[in-house]
Amino acid sequence: MGNPKGFIEIKRKEGGNRPIHERVLDYGEVEQTLNEDDRILQASRCMDCGIPFCQWGCPIMNNMPEWQHAIYKGDWKRASDLLHITNNFPEFTGRICPAPCEKACVLAINEEPVTIRENEAATAEKAFELGYIKPKPPKIRTGRSIAVVGSGPAGLACADLLNKAGHSVTLFEKDEAVGGLLRFGIPDFKLAKNVIDRRIDVLLAEGLIIKTNTDIGKDISGEELLKSFDVVCLAIGAMKPRDLSIEGRNLNGVHFAMDFLTQQNRFIQGIKFDDNKRITAENKHVLVIGGGDTGSDCVGTSTRQKAKSVTQIEILPKPSEKRTADNPWPYWANTLKTSSSHEEGCERFWSLATKRFLGEKGIVKQAEVVEIKWERDSAGKFVMKEIEGTTRLIETDLVLLSLGFLHPVPEGLVNELGLGLDQKGNILINKKSTTNRAKVFATGDSVSGASLVVRAIASGRKAAESINEYLKTI
Ligand SMILES: Cc1cc2nc3c(=O)[nH]c(=O)nc-3n(C[C@H](O)[C@H](O)[C@H](O)COP(=O)(O)OP(=O)(O)OC[C@H]3O[C@@H](n4cnc5c(N)ncnc54)[C@H](O)[C@@H]3O)c2cc1C
Ligand code: SF4
Repeated sequence: MGNPKGFIEIKRKEGGNRPIHERVLDYGEVEQTLNEDDRILQASRCMDCGIPFCQWGCPIMNNMPEWQHAIYKGDWKRASDLLHITNNFPEFTGRICPAPCEKACVLAINEEPVTIRENEAATAEKAFELGYIKPKPPKIRTGRSIAVVGSGPAGLACADLLNKAGHSVTLFEKDEAVGGLLRFGIPDFKLAKNVIDRRIDVLLAEGLIIKTNTDIGKDISGEELLKSFDVVCLAIGAMKPRDLSIEGRNLNGVHFAMDFLTQQNRFIQGIKFDDNKRITAENKHVLVIGGGDTGSDCVGTSTRQKAKSVTQIEILPKPSEKRTADNPWPYWANTLKTSSSHEEGCERFWSLATKRFLGEKGIVKQAEVVEIKWERDSAGKFVMKEIEGTTRLIETDLVLLSLGFLHPVPEGLVNELGLGLDQKGNILINKKSTTNRAKVFATGDSVSGASLVVRAIASGRKAAESINEYLKTI
């Protein structure tokens, strides 16, 4: 612990966001960073608690007190080395993790927590800048071959660790570029794609083999892969979107959020779309259905595409501004989240259910919504009840369905390999990340359902550990 009085003397200071009037004109990252002196002061706020609850809150168990101390000492190499023991990609999580660690920070009981997430991004950036993150190929190759299918954070973390362990790892990806939702889901204004490319260059130089544009189950069968590799690990995400089966769903102008977001990310990468295929919010009244992070990303993207208006509605009640008694520290705080995209301009409504879409000449024009209340039934379960007389129409010519994801897409690889599924339709694994098929492991959102980047990294690391153990037994 560098400065024992740091948490008393220094107030939390965040890097803040670029001014709204400037940032909405481009897709560059919204968040700024502090200068080095301020960053060191922020790290000095860590109290080096006896029990670091922040570490407990972090799914990959980053060792916060140790690397805050290293930052305080200006020892960026040590800070980066400590961080990389538990996190393959601190430059991703440092930008987009919702930071459960900060909710669990002991300071957060009655003060503002340490800026752990920003300190993490700053450490990674400093380490790249000073040349501390360079390719370290394994000295010895084991002769074992592993196929990892899917290049999101789970697949990348798993492939990275196994490659570093000396196995020959091939990462297969059906899209034209690696990164999964990091690249094609999360907008550039939250995570610039050159940040992914920079890390991929390091992994390639370490000997990881990457094959893009290869849909396993279609271009190469799962069985073929099993014959060619000692182990196959599936990290295929949970891409089946939840739909809204109501009247008017098939009208033009009603789209899944992911179709809208992935297209914009590709557009920024220079890919052209025919006018009749392009989904754009320009000059439209946009209605985003779903109040989560994906919905918020649709809001920010619509604003940048120059929508006439953006409205976001959510079926659940508005969360409280502060923690409630049944949601105490150090647990994740279920409080109202206002993202940088919301700040850029958007009307938000809660406790609204969508009844139907109305259109003209096959194009959506309005959404009929009704206010609802949530009540407990006799079994204590929350049930939704419509409030009489509250039906109204929202004018819209672009509806983005952002209702979450159900489970991995079963058609193709999952069905071909006959993989067991859990009740929600996710790939069923045991504690060792093993599926019901010999030699087949699975990880990330494909086993947990849609989650977070940091949880996907944690899951990919666990799968790598299990695969390593398994390889010793065959
Ligand atoms: C719009 C959006 C915004 C988000 N924002 C955040 C955020 O800010 N912070 C956060 O922590 N989390 C966020 N998330 C969640 C996070 O992105 C995911 O939890 C995480 O990416 C899951 O990682 P994964 O590796 O399991 O799967 P994915 O990232 O989904 O990657 C799976 C990969 O597998 C590939 N694949 C699938 N099938 C095959 C096949 N048969 N052959 C070859 N390749 C295949 C896919 O093309 C994809 O590249 C967001 C999600 C979305 C949709
Ligand atoms: S990965 Fe997320 S939870 Fe872990 S230290 Fe970083 S910001 Fe916190």
